Amino acid sequence: MTTPISSRIDLHGEIALVTGGARGIGQAIAIALAREGASVVVADLLPAEETIAAIEAQGVRGLALTLDVTNREQVEQVFAEAAHQLGPISILVNNAGTCGRVSLENTSDEIYNRDMDTIMRGTYLCTQTVYSYMKQAKRGKIINISSVAGKMGGPTARPGSDSSIGRSGPAYAAAKGAVIAFTKWVAKDGGQYGICCNAIAPGPIDTEMIRGFEFNLDVMPIRRVGQPQDIAQAVVFLASPAANFISGSVLNVDGGMVMD
Ligand code: NDP
Repeated sequence: MTTPISSRIDLHGEIALVTGGARGIGQAIAIALAREGASVVVADLLPAEETIAAIEAQGVRGLALTLDVTNREQVEQVFAEAAHQLGPISILVNNAGTCGRVSLENTSDEIYNRDMDTIMRGTYLCTQTVYSYMKQAKRGKIINISSVAGKMGGPTARPGSDSSIGRSGPAYAAAKGAVIAFTKWVAKDGGQYGICCNAIAPGPIDTEMIRGFEFNLDVMPIRRVGQPQDIAQAVVFLASPAANFISGSVLNVDGGMVMD
């Protein structure tokens, strides 16, 4: 089992599921996938009418399903419902995330569990669930939204700072790092079934998640805060036949902040 030779971006006939797609980066991803022809399921804790309207404006089908990605029963129900209504998911984007911006000393068990569960357990559960559908179809694309924090522990703390300015916390960094390791495991296993699994490591992106925090743009060769659309287009590429020979990679979409 392998993947077809890469070809141009075209997502007609694909059925994508984006977690956390009601707003922010997930919303932009869902709309961008629809623009290339995919039907899109938006799975979020929040209502996703706005995203669905934008998806359907592209002339494809959209479906909003309520989902807490940390809940196994809900995850299994949502993937079954999606398959029932639209067909089996062929593109999964694990995007849902939470971010505690606190120092190590101030990371409560609650913050630790929330960030680890939403980011890592959610990615794990959704991937595990979609895997059987993709194995059966002998094809599939999984894209995990990690972070520069998962590669380099976030930006360096300023001397004397309590890590609260623009820095994501230690649980967030650990969870995003775990997502990268998990991505590589799935890529190594999934190739034999025609499944590609990749991650994206965004730098600072203009969403609710960074409201009220400052970022040092001096460390970025492309000196601006990113927009959700910057991440969405990278996801479209990795989800498409243009990336049929790419698996296990972590694509930095960060204005050049991390170069590795
Ligand atoms: P937002 O907070 O704007 O959006 C995250 C979405 O995920 C929200 O709709 C949120 O719903 C949802 N969500 C949270 N927990 C769950 C859950 N348990 N089940 C289902 N949905 C959930 O953040 P962004 O759009 O900025 O972030 C999207 C992804 O990108 C995250 O993984 C984030 O870590 C990552 N990222 C973001 C960066 C940035 O600078 N913005 C940088 C690097 C990575 P609710 O509000 O109800 O919790």
